[in-house]
Amino acid sequence: MKCSSYNKYIQKDDKLFIYNYFTGSIVEIENINHFNALKNNDLNSISEQLKANLEDQGIIIDKQFNETNELKFSNLLARYSSDTLGLTIVNTLKCNFKCPYCYESRSNPSSMSIEIQNAVIDFVKNKWKESKFSNLFITFLGGEVFKDVGSIDYIMDNISKAQTEYNFNLSCSLITNGFEIDRYLDRLDRWMIKDVQITFDGDETNHNITRYDKNNTPSFHKIFSNMLLLLDKNIDLAIRLNLTTENIEDGYLFIDRLNKLDKKPYLYFGHVKNYGNSCNSGNCLSRSDFSNVHYKLTAYAVKNEVPCSILPNLHWNHCVADTINGYVIDPDGYLYKCWHYVGKKERSFANVKEYQKITNKENFYRFLIDENYLTDDGCKKCECLPICMGACPMERHDLGNKNCTHFKYNAEKYIELYCEQKV
Ligand code: SF4
Ligand code: SF4
Repeated sequence: MKCSSYNKYIQKDDKLFIYNYFTGSIVEIENINHFNALKNNDLNSISEQLKANLEDQGIIIDKQFNETNELKFSNLLARYSSDTLGLTIVNTLKCNFKCPYCYESRSNPSSMSIEIQNAVIDFVKNKWKESKFSNLFITFLGGEVFKDVGSIDYIMDNISKAQTEYNFNLSCSLITNGFEIDRYLDRLDRWMIKDVQITFDGDETNHNITRYDKNNTPSFHKIFSNMLLLLDKNIDLAIRLNLTTENIEDGYLFIDRLNKLDKKPYLYFGHVKNYGNSCNSGNCLSRSDFSNVHYKLTAYAVKNEVPCSILPNLHWNHCVADTINGYVIDPDGYLYKCWHYVGKKERSFANVKEYQKITNKENFYRFLIDENYLTDDGCKKCECLPICMGACPMERHDLGNKNCTHFKYNAEKYIELYCEQKV
């Protein structure tokens, strides 16, 4: 047996822990000599009972075993599984806001025609006939999704009929700026929405500086009260709090505000980034600075009983980009492998009307077969590889940046924070 290369050894006061990035397990070690021996990959002094426990948790593994092979296998399985169909449907590019960092096209924003809506419904039916998938995950994304509710009505009414006929599991979510959601609460049931994501750009003052509608109306209080309506409706609500160099303190104010609520949403922190020419705010945090802020705010949220994740979620592929059955569909029916390409037709690989006809093979295959996580020298040696898998393929390819997981810069602190909650 040997120790996994994805172990993180944590010594905090008189407590000793080992966290395994591959399995997500955390084991407390009672004896400092055992802890030091494991750290040095020396199993001679470890009892058979402890070895068996550590093996169950993936902290020690068979001596001959190359973990990277299992990682690659898990990645291939997740990439090429046909059991799940994941659709991100951009029903409209229209929006009621004009946020400075928005990456989506603002010139001539379109909504989905009835022809494309029918093509989306046929796409789902044909895909089911091809692969008999068991699960369909749909995310509606804009623009602002509520700028065209009719298209969602039509698509979801028909997909619901297809679900009854073909008997697949359906899970539907939407991402909205939240400004108009009070007018459409009844629609959430009709669309079978299980979860909603709303973004804030800080607490009241900073949010209102960046998130305003076309009449320059401040939006914070309206969105916050809409958020409460969703919580009353028992919708799973995730709040993305965007962070820049200029709104860090807002994180604390916002958490204080959530702390006063009886029902609280799930909170996570978004790293605002400069994607090409799309950002004109010039106040983006570096990745390591984002991680430092993220850690401090996570600790503060935990202390204030606001739900948030401390440890990373385990997943073996990255996103829609490296998933064979993941599609982003824009209002004109163009299909993409990345959310950030919406509206950039030169980045599409087909149209949903003729989805089997790949019109740009490079755009289709680029991320799907990308194995940078296995070839990049930094990633090969990185203990975070199982939770990061080489990070965002688009950023790596288009921007030449490795968007290393924020966890990497403060891993020990996150694990300590998690363990403090458990003991
Ligand atoms: S490739 Fe990167 S930017 Fe595109 S959808 Fe995936 S994670 Fe998002
Ligand atoms: S992108 Fe960075 S954090 Fe992710 S596996 Fe590679 S080196 Fe590690």
